[in-house]
Amino acid sequence: MGRRKSKRKPPPKRKNIEPLDQQFNCPFCNHEKSCEVKMDKPKNSAKILCRVCLEEYQTSINFLSEPVDVYNDWVDACETAN
Ligand SMILES: [Zn+2]
Repeated sequence: MGRRKSKRKPPPKRKNIEPLDQQFNCPFCNHEKSCEVKMDKPKNSAKILCRVCLEEYQTSINFLSEPVDVYNDWVDACETAN
């Protein structure tokens, strides 16, 4: 009488942790992916900075905000300014 011990192996969980795209094209100098977003969720604020022309923009965010929202805000603000 063979008793089979079944050993359950948990399936290898591979989490695909991809960093969110936080690099955007700069609306000022038109460099690609030169703008980096820094989210400061505890303070409900975010900053985006272009490392080429050093243009920066700060805006308020909420817990649902994504870096792309910050970027869109910035582009909107640029268009309003023009
Ligand atoms: Zn720039």
